Amino acid sequence: MGHFLVRDNSNEFYVYGNECIAMIVPNTLGNTPSRIQYNEATFFLADHLGNTRVFYMTTTTPGSSYIINALDYYPYGKVLREYDNGAGDKYLTTQHERDQETGLDYRGARYYDSDVARFLSLDPKAAKYPMLSPYNYVAGNPIVLVDPDGKKPLPVLNILSPSWASQKGFYVHQKANDLGTSYLFRKGIIDLGTTILLSNQLDRATEYADSKQFQTPEFSYRHAMRNGDQTPEQAKNDADAFVRERYKWARYEFDRGNKDRAFFILGVALHAIQDATSPAHGGFQEWTGEESDMDEVNHVIQEYSYPGINSNLQKVTNAFLELFFSKKDLPDTNIFEFIQIDYNNEESTVTD
Ligand SMILES: [Zn+2]
Repeated sequence: MGHFLVRDNSNEFYVYGNECIAMIVPNTLGNTPSRIQYNEATFFLADHLGNTRVFYMTTTTPGSSYIINALDYYPYGKVLREYDNGAGDKYLTTQHERDQETGLDYRGARYYDSDVARFLSLDPKAAKYPMLSPYNYVAGNPIVLVDPDGKKPLPVLNILSPSWASQKGFYVHQKANDLGTSYLFRKGIIDLGTTILLSNQLDRATEYADSKQFQTPEFSYRHAMRNGDQTPEQAKNDADAFVRERYKWARYEFDRGNKDRAFFILGVALHAIQDATSPAHGGFQEWTGEESDMDEVNHVIQEYSYPGINSNLQKVTNAFLELFFSKKDLPDTNIFEFIQIDYNNEESTVTD
């Protein structure tokens, strides 16, 4: 994690890891604390946006602590209610300093006013986003996006763990995998041990499939997309050939008793099929490699929520896995021919 200590002013120190974790005010002013003493350290607990929700201090009684301050926020960062037991703090929403007199958040390039949910000056990159107000905050998506420096919105979970939808923190593929494996188990097709192994390996595989090395136009067919040199038809054929080859390979490993290897390979193939149900990929849209930050943001938003148990995502997952365990071959026609895109997320009530 790499904690580091920042001296904020004459007598306060802040400990940072992925976010601001603690503040230390030495009892003996003026010395760098080499050992933290009683009543010197305040700890911060933040939510997924980095909003500070609770400050607490430990006491000399082992295991006990007391709350100094607790806050709830409106989505755009205005304080909804506050429990203040003496010492307020200035680092509030998304780890930014709020000026006590004006109530504005300092965001580096610009000041942000959480009362009116907008920046007070123009977006320096406004020309790139004609569809948005130049004063907008995170394109109107304050639960999914943050703006660390006042210059561009970023998916908050991407900041915690970089990369795209299947990476840790985004569970759409994983959710489909888990429900797909439990579907097979409930139908009596696989036993419990196989269920657990399969579910783990599919999750590993989808993370691998979306790792940086495969996030290029060259490998776009593995995500049901195409590059600039391909027609949608060519990309669809490449994707089909890729899935067929992996499917056979997985069968080969499975028959030799290498179950974990087989399931991993199967998962890489399944990932491509799952991606074909996503509105951000489906229909083999072009991947230029020069997508703007906003394109990335849109992509992630579209894949943020699981589309539901009756979605095409879940149907193709179940069908593909069932086919494999029925020891059947893939149909002769291009398997991407039949995959429908999940254009509405109305069923996305399953979020865990
Ligand atoms: Zn993908």
